[in-house]
Amino acid sequence: MPHDPAYAPPYGHAPAPGCRNCGAPQAALFSVRAHVGVLVLMRFHTLNGPFCRPCGRSLVRTMTTKTLCQGWWSPLSLVLFTPFTLFWNLLAAIKFGKLPDPTPAPGRQPLEEGPPVHARPLAYVAIIPLLWFTWVIVNIYLDATGRR
Ligand SMILES: [Zn+2]
Repeated sequence: MPHDPAYAPPYGHAPAPGCRNCGAPQAALFSVRAHVGVLVLMRFHTLNGPFCRPCGRSLVRTMTTKTLCQGWWSPLSLVLFTPFTLFWNLLAAIKFGKLPDPTPAPGRQPLEEGPPVHARPLAYVAIIPLLWFTWVIVNIYLDATGRR
């Protein structure tokens, strides 16, 4: 399973050519990231490629939705790690999106891409901390400028 970090090849071994999930040779060597930040708990997930277009985009969508849902709940995550992770995955999505149709290895299937991130309700959990963050910034501004 590509979701398991133990899936990474032993250190020193060259990655197998082709998509790590389905074996298609039309793959790009790029990783997909997710960040979870809740209070003092922070976790960084990285899935290293290469991945083909459907496998890569499927992972980008899953990991981005996870980040949008769970990545905003600690201050450093909010201002630093989660924006970085989202930007990274955007680059990954562009990179995987440019690949041609894959021809998976015999007996293997590319991942279902699934619905886009904006069609996944969990992605909108992010609106709550972003509103909170905006409120905090506005209050700091009002305090600093003495407007109340
Ligand atoms: Zn694949």
